[in-house]
Amino acid sequence: MLRGIYPGSFDPVTLGHMDIIKRGSHLVDELIVGVLCNNAKMPLFSVEERVKMLEEVTSDLPNVRIMPFDGLLVDFVKEMDAQVVIRGLRAITDFEYELQMAQTNYKLAPEVEYIFLPTNLQYSYLSSSMVKEVAAFGGDISQFVSEAVIDRIKERYREIKR
Ligand code: ADP
Repeated sequence: MLRGIYPGSFDPVTLGHMDIIKRGSHLVDELIVGVLCNNAKMPLFSVEERVKMLEEVTSDLPNVRIMPFDGLLVDFVKEMDAQVVIRGLRAITDFEYELQMAQTNYKLAPEVEYIFLPTNLQYSYLSSSMVKEVAAFGGDISQFVSEAVIDRIKERYREIKR
């Protein structure tokens, strides 16, 4: 059984992430989306909230499971008994970072393999931080995230402004 891990912050999950999840899920028997706790990045949503949103938007994908994780990615991969890591590539800047991360991880765990999926052209510009920036100023984010996520973001910014 081939098990893949798609790790990230997903703060919040965008249509670009969802595209990688869907395509990645066709490549492996089971895809685990690993949601990094990463409090140092001061996330807009708690890891529990991010897991919940991901569960909602992937409910139609039977071989996708959402799991929070903390610590080293290679440790999480081994703990989940997975063999491959899937990541999305948007631009050269992603490529440089991803290559460095994969090469460091090869040193730590040579048995773990990496699959990089090029972004779908229509989402190549899309990132969670851009979505947050637009939402913070009350802009329309309906082209960037799913409906369930729109409501959560609006609600969060309302809470912050209170
Ligand atoms: P991280 O904090 O690890 O960068 P992100 O949640 O920003 O986590 O992204 C997780 C993964 O999803 C990364 O591999 C990133 O390149 C990929 N990704 C993010 N946005 C897109 C997109 N619009 N198209 C394709 N891949 C994307």
